[in-house]
Order: sequence, then structure tokens, then C-alpha cells
Amino acid sequence: PVGLMGGDMEIIRGDAYYQSYICHIPRSTIELGLNGSLDVLDGMIFPAICDVIRNLSGMWQLMFPDTYTRYLDLPQNFAPGVGGAFYRHELAALAADMGALSGVEVTNERLLASIALYNENAARIRALYDLRAEQPWQVPTAELYLLLRAGNVLPVEEHNALLAAYAEAVREVERPRLDNSRIVLTGAFCEQPPLGLIRTLERAGCYIVDDDFVLGSRWMQG
Ligand code: SF4
Repeated sequence: PVGLMGGDMEIIRGDAYYQSYICHIPRSTIELGLNGSLDVLDGMIFPAICDVIRNLSGMWQLMFPDTYTRYLDLPQNFAPGVGGAFYRHELAALAADMGALSGVEVTNERLLASIALYNENAARIRALYDLRAEQPWQVPTAELYLLLRAGNVLPVEEHNALLAAYAEAVREVERPRLDNSRIVLTGAFCEQPPLGLIRTLERAGCYIVDDDFVLGSRWMQG
């Protein structure tokens, strides 16, 4: 799977689909779709994050009728017999669609193996976050952020190997410790900051010891 978080680009045609005060993500995603950057994808799944993204799933169906498009709804009712049954049905339908799209049937064994890989991924990211909180000079956020974003486009096995190699490399070097201020950076929400902003904060004398970047890859645990 590829994770999309919009694009850092000038939006021209995307503005014809949304009001210009709407966040960057849907408008730049439309721009990416229209300029062909997403042609490599077999389909798009739109999460139930907000009305804007729900509407984007409808727009996608109209704009790209030959592309698999699904809006993944989440239960509003947490009673197992109501919201639980609904969510189970949604996931089963999604699994069937993924099997048809990829030609590989989704079985319990394959799902469990995949969940184990993603759990390992989250654990490796957590370990780097813990190390950064303790020794932020060893794990600059500009590097950690790039690692996180790489996870959006790499197969999870390759990303796990990359995270392991980075952790190993960090252990082997002793980086200079500066008299920086330890700060927590929050508020990114869906929109991710440009790398230059993170570098600027670090160069201005901040050690970012916690943040809310790319939350999906850190919260999910199977
Ligand atoms: S920031 Fe996220 S929740 Fe808000 S409008 Fe944009 S995509 Fe939707």
C-alpha cells in the first residue's frame, strides 16, 4: 500500500474542485490525480477522516471511473452487535475487493503475517521515538521524519529493514550534544509539515522530542 498525504506543489486545477480555504490535502491530491502522478496506483481508498475526504472519494469515482475507489467508513456506534458488525462487514468487503484487485486471496494466515509485519514496523518506529526522547541529538527529527514518510511508499518489509539499519547506524556514532531546548511539536494533524520547517526548527536550537507526524503508522496495532 501507498500512503498519500497530499503533495507539496502549486495547485491549479485542484482549486476548481474545492474552495481555496479547504486544506491542502484534497486539492493537491486532485492535482496529483489529474497530472497523472497517481496513474501507477491500482486504486484509492479514502478514509473516513472528514466530509472533505468523503466527498473526494465521490469525486474520484466521477473523475476516474475505471479506477477502483472505495470510501472506508468507520462505525459511529461502538456496540459490538451494531458498529462492530458494520465494521466487520466493511473490512470483509474491502478484503474481497483487495483479493480481486491483486489476484491474491486474502486469507487469515496472510492477514496474520501482514499484521505481524506492521506490528514490527510500529515497534521499530516507537523505539526510535523513545531513543529520540532520551537522546534527541542522536536522532534528529529531520531524519526521523524522512524515515516515517518513506514508510508511506515502501513495502513494509523494506521499511522494517530501513528502520533497523538506521537504528544500528545511530548506535554506532556519537553525535555532538548541543545546549538546545527540548520541545514537543503538535498540530500537524493530517497535513504534514515541509521538511524545511523541521530543519529550521532544529537549526534554531530546538530538540524536537515528540511530535504528531504520520500518526497512522504509529497508532495502529493489530
Ligand atoms: S486537515 Fe484532514 S480532516 Fe481537515 S479537512 Fe483536511 S483532510 Fe479533512
